[in-house]
Amino acid sequence: MFSAPDFQQLRQTIGRCTSADVEQALSAGTCDSNDLAALISPAAEPYLPVMARRSALLTAQRFGRTTQLYAPIYLSNYCTNRCAYCGFAVNNKITRRCLTLDEAEAEAAILHERGFQHILLVAGEAEKIVGVNYLEAIALRLRPKFAAISIEVQPLSTAHYQRLFQAGVTAVAVYQETYDQEMYQQVHLAGNKKDYHFRLETPARVAAAGMREVGIGALLGLTDWRAEGLALGLHLAWLRKNFWSTAVTVSFPRLRPATGAFAPLVPVSEQNLSQLIFGLRLFDPDVGLLLSTREEARYRDGMLGLGPTRYSAGSCTAPGGYSSADQTEGEQFSVGDQRTVEEVSLAIAAKGFDPVSKDWDSAFQH
Ligand code: SF4
Repeated sequence: MFSAPDFQQLRQTIGRCTSADVEQALSAGTCDSNDLAALISPAAEPYLPVMARRSALLTAQRFGRTTQLYAPIYLSNYCTNRCAYCGFAVNNKITRRCLTLDEAEAEAAILHERGFQHILLVAGEAEKIVGVNYLEAIALRLRPKFAAISIEVQPLSTAHYQRLFQAGVTAVAVYQETYDQEMYQQVHLAGNKKDYHFRLETPARVAAAGMREVGIGALLGLTDWRAEGLALGLHLAWLRKNFWSTAVTVSFPRLRPATGAFAPLVPVSEQNLSQLIFGLRLFDPDVGLLLSTREEARYRDGMLGLGPTRYSAGSCTAPGGYSSADQTEGEQFSVGDQRTVEEVSLAIAAKGFDPVSKDWDSAFQH
């Protein structure tokens, strides 16, 4: 199993990096974890334009001039956990709702009509309300309409992931939030999510179940983003080595305003986020990098082609939000890029890229 990295040691490794280490990383044909440490260190900041160019080149070589589009469907905002930074936390007094199968299908039909072929089913962690039977039933209903169905729900067992894969789920996202064990305990105040190690081992269970793709990520704004980035890189490399047939994606959600008024504990600027994205692209040219609607339209447009490969678009983060347009009460966080999917697609095309809504078909599986 992937072992928890020593967060303080990661910080020290990064802190020791010099401009000579950065130049060595930039001249290397392939980057190892020491090179990644250098690329995301303060010493690499003057090299950002070079990193951006290198990252853009690798992204074009591996992914072409394309940006994949996906949209989340929030199934439920019930949650038994108390995460200090999240609007769905059990202690927050919000209107709670779990979509029925028909309601979920209606939300999906709206996204299908808008051209989406890839959807992400999201739910708070409430096993008794959003259990594997419910997820399986939804996947079976939606499978005929969508090329790819991803889920972002509570960590499950390998056997449950296998069942969901058979039902049509192709990918699972499970973010560690923070690899810093001390910070993890400080912000995860109650509920099953307090178990750092069970969560850390989840991507391996997903891959062991035969899922086509697993998504890992860290919530930026809780602690040192550079050390989080190095931990992400180590986790990514471990998954690649042990589960070569499962694709891996990485997300970089920055903390957004949410019910509960939790403010980021450390600032993470757009420049910092860009450095992390470029560093990970140089470290692993084939990894899918996601940039969600948490980020502003201006920033997302500026990053097109420079490293990220997949954008969410036209997102609503409250259950039932697509069917009732004014539904924002009960949302997980406020969205930074408020544009419709058509507007995002046009912005992508204006930069000379193809917005791609389908890059996979279940027929490939057989
Ligand atoms: S981050 Fe996830 S587990 Fe934590 S409160 Fe929000 S929905 Fe629940």
